[in-house]
Amino acid sequence: MAKIIDGKAFANKMHEEIKLTTAKLKSEFNITPGLAVILVGEDPASKVYVRNKGIQTKNAGMNSFEYLMDNLVKEETLLELIMKLNADPKVNGILCQLPLPNHINEDAIINAIDPNKDVDGFHISNVGLLNTGQKALVPCTPLGCLLLLRSHLGNLTGKSAVVVGRSNIVGKPMLNLLLGDNCTVTVVHSKSKSIENICQTADILIAAVGKPEMIKSEWIKQGAVIIDVGINRVPNKSDSDKKYSIVGDVDFESCQVKASAITPVPGGVGPMTIACLLANTLTACCRSNGLDEPKNLTL
Ligand code: NDP
Repeated sequence: MAKIIDGKAFANKMHEEIKLTTAKLKSEFNITPGLAVILVGEDPASKVYVRNKGIQTKNAGMNSFEYLMDNLVKEETLLELIMKLNADPKVNGILCQLPLPNHINEDAIINAIDPNKDVDGFHISNVGLLNTGQKALVPCTPLGCLLLLRSHLGNLTGKSAVVVGRSNIVGKPMLNLLLGDNCTVTVVHSKSKSIENICQTADILIAAVGKPEMIKSEWIKQGAVIIDVGINRVPNKSDSDKKYSIVGDVDFESCQVKASAITPVPGGVGPMTIACLLANTLTACCRSNGLDEPKNLTL
């Protein structure tokens, strides 16, 4: 049976370290890191994410600033807010919850954020820095995946990695992070052929597709390490009263018999995302104040 890679426990350790470092910043330098989160519209899932981010930010001892905007907000109003936050020294991290309504140009909003405060790592400057192997603010979910892989495997050099999914948020930054750790990486997507055969070559398989339990045990190599990024809501099959349950992109039951290690859903990559967001905020705060970065929380 595969070892279960416990993302929740790892994220909890990160939260403790973030809390300690934040307290130290306050006591030694009178600095309190601040994270600003902008939410446009009423999407219930996004509201839950934003509320959780606010709670965790405050738990870490940081300042949390929330901006809830109407669904009809004009792009220029949003840009004005971002300019204001860019100039505010109390704000070290800015995050605009995606997706945005259709009338707003998402790229324009992301690229208006000061790259030094772009704690999501989506600004074109941070994307370019990561792609060229330079110091960047790295997207939180793939960063969380890499930290879990390093904690489980140690050195990743020479491993064959397959990433299923090529989104800007997960798949593409994951490719660059794995390359940076000397893996041989293949990325597959919805137009790829023979995905099953390609997945079978992977020592490390990262699933970021958004298709419930798509990856079956026949797709994986004996002893592979599986990181399941997927979060999919499906009708509940068990006896519990809940109508829905959350499953990943990997068929956990069948794959855990063949893999050497696997992340569960929930409790795997999910908790790492918020932990990495706070780690990025701390990193951004230290960089902007010319202080040493917290070593265990960055790459
Ligand atoms: P996107 O929808 O942006 O991208 C999905 C990717 O999967 C695309 O590249 C798409 O290919 C590819 N794909 C779709 N169908 C197939 C298929 N049948 N075979 C192979 N590839 C396929 O999703 P995200 O990257 O944003 O998210 C992926 C999953 O991760 C989702 O379940 C999401 O909820 C979850 N997620 C979890 C996070 C966490 O904190 N744990 C954070 C972010 C996302 P193509 O490009 O050709 O369309």
